[in-house]
Amino acid sequence: MSARIIDGKAVAAALRLAVATRVATLPFQPGLVVVLVGDDAASAVYVRNKDRAAQQAGLRASTIRLPASTAQAELLRVISGLNADDTVDGILVQLPLPPGIDSRAVIDAIDPAKDVDGFHPVNVGRLQDGLDVLAPCTPTGVMKLLAAADLPVRGARAVVLGRSAIVGKPMAALLLAADATVTIAHSRTADIVDECRRADILVAAVGRAEMVRGDWIKPGAAVIDVGINRLDDGRLVGDCAYDECAAVAGAITPVPGGVGPMTIACLLENTVTAAVRRRL
Ligand code: NAP
Repeated sequence: MSARIIDGKAVAAALRLAVATRVATLPFQPGLVVVLVGDDAASAVYVRNKDRAAQQAGLRASTIRLPASTAQAELLRVISGLNADDTVDGILVQLPLPPGIDSRAVIDAIDPAKDVDGFHPVNVGRLQDGLDVLAPCTPTGVMKLLAAADLPVRGARAVVLGRSAIVGKPMAALLLAADATVTIAHSRTADIVDECRRADILVAAVGRAEMVRGDWIKPGAAVIDVGINRLDDGRLVGDCAYDECAAVAGAITPVPGGVGPMTIACLLENTVTAAVRRRL
């Protein structure tokens, strides 16, 4: 069997177009502010991409750049100002933050109604309750990929590899809310290969290059690879050994060009959702 390739670039492009079309019909311009603290090179690239995509979608986008030496109290003051600013609908603090800043305290300070990353405890709790919520962008993007590829979630056995607050846990919550039977596996899981072999939907979010091998995959399963890993030779690979897994799976996301493009598209959508809800 050779898996159907789920084209994240195309699905993301369609979503970005849908967001831009919606923004054009709104009587106001939704505003997104990204806060970047320090000079982490990867974060700087992500932030530039978010800013560009937001502008292209017609959002009012800006980035606040603060030095790595910024004190936590100063960052909290910036967040408080953004919370109070009525022209700001979405606030995203780029992670990781420099050492010395407690990212939990910073995320907790964001107005949950403007928390377009979906990391605030209020939004995390609402997601766990299965309520309509600003959900984290990467797992939301995965759900959209499954839908776009017509892969049924209801009743499916889903295994999520990884239990981070950013991907694994919200991913499991979204799959559960969509009526999958969900297992979360992690670094202490006793027999991870067996768990994976039972999955109709396998979502890998561990950050270990090509850890998931072809013989971990149930024939015909959907394999969604969230991982982004840079090899020594410069190649970008996922958490799944692509060729091996594609030979067994029914559908698979490539890396790059799978989940990655969905994250920013979902950020744009969350910003518009936040903007509309704040004005209801
Ligand atoms: P993370 O915070 O480091 O979490 C990794 C998770 O994987 C942890 O729960 C860890 O288990 C588990 N894990 C690590 N090694 C394992 C092993 N050998 N066997 C089983 N489980 C293992 O990472 P993350 O932020 O969730 O990101 C995961 C990957 O997704 C990374 O490659 C990241 O770059 C990528 N990512 C991509 C996007 C995108 O837009 N496509 C967005 C976010 C992240 P423990 O909890 O037991 O330590």
